[in-house]
Amino acid sequence: MNIIDGKKFAENLRKKIAEEVEELKDRTGKVPGLAVVLVGNDPASQVYVANKAKQTKEVGMNSYEHVLTADTSQKDLLHIIKNLNANENVHGILVQLPLPKHISEDAVINAISPEKDVDGFHVVNRGRLITGQDALVPCTPLGCLMLLKDRLFNLEGLHAVVIGRSNIVGKPMAQLLLNEGCTVTVCHSKTKDIKSHTQKADIIVVAVGKPNMLEAEWIKEGATIIDVGINRVTVQAENSNESPTTKLVGDVNFNSCKEKAGGITPVPGGVGPMTIACLLSNTLKAFKAGN
Ligand code: NDP
Repeated sequence: MNIIDGKKFAENLRKKIAEEVEELKDRTGKVPGLAVVLVGNDPASQVYVANKAKQTKEVGMNSYEHVLTADTSQKDLLHIIKNLNANENVHGILVQLPLPKHISEDAVINAISPEKDVDGFHVVNRGRLITGQDALVPCTPLGCLMLLKDRLFNLEGLHAVVIGRSNIVGKPMAQLLLNEGCTVTVCHSKTKDIKSHTQKADIIVVAVGKPNMLEAEWIKEGATIIDVGINRVTVQAENSNESPTTKLVGDVNFNSCKEKAGGITPVPGGVGPMTIACLLSNTLKAFKAGN
């Protein structure tokens, strides 16, 4: 079976986390706590935050939600983070991005204690990742790596191509693969002839945000494809009297690539569910480091 079932993997991971949380509670009398801070009322962010809170509670952790209005000042936000850093019941802090324009994301992220930075975006955690030290690693690339290791076991010596170089996905993904012993090529919007790179790759991770960017002719037989992209596209109804609908697709042309790939993640049901599961895994890790 060449479909990589991220939904199932994430379910199992959450189950293991819940068991460990229960065990830690019995042993230490304490429960891991995750604080999520949302500034403004972006509908997509509201959905993410609600999902995070729900799944946090489902694994037996405490969830603390801070919903702030869009006109919250940077000073007030930094004050809330300072309090969360000092709060012993909070082991992980996540500030939902994007933030309103008047707030510096870098200033906010770097105000979070690196030990509680469960998104792995703090410069200290980025530095630890680059230097091969134990770090809290960004959740989406961490989830991709788990799926790859589950499928391929040992990544050493494999040629990996990462398309996309964002701080959230592409760069940490490339670094994680490098740390695993892969030979890594990073492609981006300025790369000439991306196909010439992907055609030689054993592993391709696509994190761009462009539907159907990766076609079957871009990949070699048996390659493992991880599709991070989430794109909402409009689908015309077959019957012209009906209104068009929308659906989620990734950056990979799944139908064209699925026969040729050795393993491929679908969208939805691939990388997406791994992100929150890895956030919980990072929260557990942060808790265990201090307890
Ligand atoms: P960004 O927009 O921050 O980065 C996109 C990257 O793609 C950039 O590095 C950009 O290059 C590159 N790019 C853009 N156009 C091209 C092109 N034509 N050819 C090659 N590279 C190109 O996006 P993110 O990294 O935040 O997210 C990428 C995708 O992953 C999105 O669809 C997002 O929704 C999804 N996502 C999914 C998550 C999940 O949980 N599954 C979590 C996070 C993101 P350059 O740097 O040169 O501009």
